[in-house]
Amino acid sequence: MQTESNNLLNPLELLKDSGIPKHLLYQSKIEVDHLICPICLNILWKPVACGQDKCFQSYCEVCINKWIQDQAVDVVLQESLYSQSLIIAPDSGSGSQYSSQSSSFSEMPQQIHIETTLPNCPKCKRPFKKTSIPIIHNLLDSIQLSCIYEECSTKPGYEQFQKHILQCPFRRINCSGCGLQQLQNELEQHQNQCEHVNIECSKCGNKMSRKQFQLHSIDDCVQQQFINKDNQIAQLQKKIDELNQKNQQLEQKICKMLKGESFDTIHQFSFKTMFTQNYQFAGNQAIEAKLIRPSFNMQKQKNDFLHFYINHKVKTQAVQGIIWRMRIQTLKGNLLIGICSTLCHYSIDFIINKLGEIKRKEWNENKYKLLRKGNFTFSEGDTLTFQFMPLQQCLRITNENRHIVCRFEPTEIIEMGDSFFSFFSLENQGDSLIFI
Ligand SMILES: [Zn+2]
Ligand SMILES: [Zn+2]
Ligand SMILES: [Zn+2]
Ligand SMILES: [Zn+2]
Ligand SMILES: [Zn+2]
Repeated sequence: MQTESNNLLNPLELLKDSGIPKHLLYQSKIEVDHLICPICLNILWKPVACGQDKCFQSYCEVCINKWIQDQAVDVVLQESLYSQSLIIAPDSGSGSQYSSQSSSFSEMPQQIHIETTLPNCPKCKRPFKKTSIPIIHNLLDSIQLSCIYEECSTKPGYEQFQKHILQCPFRRINCSGCGLQQLQNELEQHQNQCEHVNIECSKCGNKMSRKQFQLHSIDDCVQQQFINKDNQIAQLQKKIDELNQKNQQLEQKICKMLKGESFDTIHQFSFKTMFTQNYQFAGNQAIEAKLIRPSFNMQKQKNDFLHFYINHKVKTQAVQGIIWRMRIQTLKGNLLIGICSTLCHYSIDFIINKLGEIKRKEWNENKYKLLRKGNFTFSEGDTLTFQFMPLQQCLRITNENRHIVCRFEPTEIIEMGDSFFSFFSLENQGDSLIFI
């Protein structure tokens, strides 16, 4: 960063809060008394004038603005003193200080009136109405000034003054490296050689002084490049971790939204049936149900399943219904999925198998009717999602890439009441499902 020297007038600071120092006036054909700001006593800079009749006093814009600001602060101070005196004024009643305060404010707000007129002109003391006087500008334009740098022989006019002192070749700027003052027009050349100036290595991107850069070996540079890459990788890794975490949270949220109320209960497997002894249940988070006994009906003249139940219940009003996911671990035989009413023993049963057959049990009969064949296949290891939606009167089954919807009759749902549980049966010894 470039800094100006301290022992000379700083062109960046010079006209910030006052006019042009009088001693910089070089030549003027006119009397300059009119061109002096009565606040800073310097030559007017960007003058504005009081618009009151017979006043027309000009001030530097910065000077009068500061004056106005100071007056505003005074008004605020007076205002706060005034309101403080209200608060601590002794109350005629015997209430606490708090109640006396609140009653003071609530009863007499209209009596608190702070005058908010324009700030007054320092000269005529009347409200300051800003105006511009062309003749003052013309007069200022006719004067000639000296540059703030003694060596400089340029005599800029009023208009060029600010621009000149900023661009003057004699302006001193401290070198950003060694800190020594340099003439503005020599600064670049100096800084191109100064060994304290920081430069950036184009290979490793590190910043160092020119002196250090000359000692910056290829080994150092390569090592630095590795360090930079490591830092980049670490930053990226951090970002990935953050994204992963966010993703996980979102997935959990979506999961919860999809599963609705039943989310919490679906993992509370309670296998309430006389047949559960035929299964082996293992696992904690995901529960594996494996059929360990052969089916009773070895001849397979009719479907013969060994049921187990999952004790999750859902009300018909639940839009999402029951959702469960299961991975098909081993499946040689058929798989039966049923939704049963807790009120009566009616149930809606489906049979699915790896061939893609979907059969539906006839209402109140023990016969199964083929609904679809071959267009919804899955393999062992696949995960299936089941969503029983009583309000939509359907069971939706989703495999890795598609879904099918099995519809029910509205009357079936009505007859079953409004509370359900699901049950599952395997047919072939050794078949197993994992509930996840
Ligand atoms: Zn001034
Ligand atoms: Zn005035
Ligand atoms: Zn100059
Ligand atoms: Zn230097
Ligand atoms: Zn380098």
